Amino acid sequence: MKTAAFEYLAASSVDEVLAELADGEASVLAGGQSLVLDVTKQDAAHRRVVDINRVAGLDTLVEEDGSLRVGALVRHRTFESEAVGGALGDLLRVVVRHIGHPPIRARGTMLGSFAYAHPAAEWPAMAVTLGARLVLAGSQGSRTVSAESFFTGPYTTARRPDELLIEARLPTLPAGTYTGYAEDRRTSIYPQAAAMAAITVTGGLITAARIGLVNAGPCPVRARAAENILVGSTFCDAAILAAADAAAMMDAPFPGCAEADLKARQRAVRLQTRRALSQVRERM
Ligand SMILES: Cc1cc2nc3c(=O)[nH]c(=O)nc-3n(C[C@H](O)[C@H](O)[C@H](O)COP(=O)(O)OP(=O)(O)OC[C@H]3O[C@@H](n4cnc5c(N)ncnc54)[C@H](O)[C@@H]3O)c2cc1C
Repeated sequence: MKTAAFEYLAASSVDEVLAELADGEASVLAGGQSLVLDVTKQDAAHRRVVDINRVAGLDTLVEEDGSLRVGALVRHRTFESEAVGGALGDLLRVVVRHIGHPPIRARGTMLGSFAYAHPAAEWPAMAVTLGARLVLAGSQGSRTVSAESFFTGPYTTARRPDELLIEARLPTLPAGTYTGYAEDRRTSIYPQAAAMAAITVTGGLITAARIGLVNAGPCPVRARAAENILVGSTFCDAAILAAADAAAMMDAPFPGCAEADLKARQRAVRLQTRRALSQVRERM
């Protein structure tokens, strides 16, 4: 299939990227693993493309002041390695293996996945679950937003058209935290449902819990009722089952969702939450 004609510019600095984005008419090309498909589908939204791959300094990956700073050109596959330590590194390593396949992971970027905001993508749910902060640079200056407020719906975010998503700050996880991730994937390239958990245990009791759900709503969902059940409890089977039941008490993810579809999604969320939490317990 022929692609629609589009203008292409390979930027060499952030300033050049921002100048190209200033009129709100250009698209950023990072890993190209979603954008190129859209362009191939003759998506009229991408008439001008600014390639950021030659911009120096966008491949930052550094731990600083309790956060992992991830630049716009850090590829998915970086997280397969031991580049990130601790419980955060454990979670990133287990999640990344589920994203596409090796060539997708070699080119695609974590921040590109945030900007694309596919409702079933793994990284956006990870960012919301951990309480990440996202840094946007635009012609009017920079701003930082929480991941929870960044994702506003399927394929929509709080990013303004003139902004480059320049960095993510993922909180490192305290000592005594263990993580788990489970997903249900059949024929689709994205998961049908997935759950991730980061649980902190001190003196035999759960002192902090973060549980996130993938494809359980128009944007990533934090299962707060499930988290509240776990905090203060021992990590026993009954607590895991009760938390999984609470996570499954989700609303219909989109208007007009049929009752049978909602029930199937709730069953999938219950199962994946139970699996993610069991994985956490096995790692302790
Ligand atoms: C076969 C296949 C299977 C896949 N499976 C999965 C999967 O299982 N799970 C999953 O999560 N993803 C999956 N993906 C998508 C993949 O993870 C992409 O890499 C990701 O969605 C986008 O990252 P990218 O760097 O390739 O972005 P690009 O394709 O370059 O860009 C995507 C969009 O984001 C914008 N953008 C990118 N970077 C920035 C930035 N820094 N600032 C502002 N805007 C930006 C672009 O303008 C574009 O609109 C799959 C893709 C394919 C082709």
